[in-house]
Amino acid sequence: MDNKALEMISYGMYIVTTKDEEKNYGCVINTLTQVTAKNVLVAITLNKENATNQALKASKKCAVSILSEQATSDLIAQFGYFSSRDTDKFQSVYYQEVEELPVVTDGVCSYIIGEVVNIVSCDTHDIFILRVSKAEKLTEEKPMTYRYYHEVLKGKASSKAPTYQEEKVVSNGKKYRCTICGYIYDDEKEAVKFEDLPEDWKCPRCGVGKDKFVKID
Ligand code: FE
Repeated sequence: MDNKALEMISYGMYIVTTKDEEKNYGCVINTLTQVTAKNVLVAITLNKENATNQALKASKKCAVSILSEQATSDLIAQFGYFSSRDTDKFQSVYYQEVEELPVVTDGVCSYIIGEVVNIVSCDTHDIFILRVSKAEKLTEEKPMTYRYYHEVLKGKASSKAPTYQEEKVVSNGKKYRCTICGYIYDDEKEAVKFEDLPEDWKCPRCGVGKDKFVKID
């Protein structure tokens, strides 16, 4: 199969948020599709391992913020590469409470609120069908496309994204993989060997320290 063919599929960039009695949950997705025009239904796809997936199954209600081209790499990294289980993703972003849900408004052009009406299990992911109860446009900024995220922000898919493709590295040097975002540091392609990087060096993609990297073959 030619994976390059799959890369021709177009997507947008979104942050899905929900909450339980204790905390807020949220993650980045690139898979949202409007399914019906009347009594609007949309479909979103979430990895079964995501804390947001499990929280949404319980709450049955979520917000989806549609990211604009003003959304920063930091915002996407925060919601895309870390887990709501051990990070408070809402600590440093602007959000507002709408219908008792946390709605991210930072770098966002519009948002929708939806109630879960169906869940379809698909191997590693679930498709949630949402009935949209509210939609609001916030700014005139352009929505961010998946292509813009890759080409302009130089972003990569999280290993939990349905569109994730493992990077093939051809090198005889030492390579190290970030266990959070999958970024590969290849000694042969860098001026400084991984071992010689300063202790405060951070993953260029997701910002974690050297201790989160593992050596790979
Ligand atoms: Fe990383």
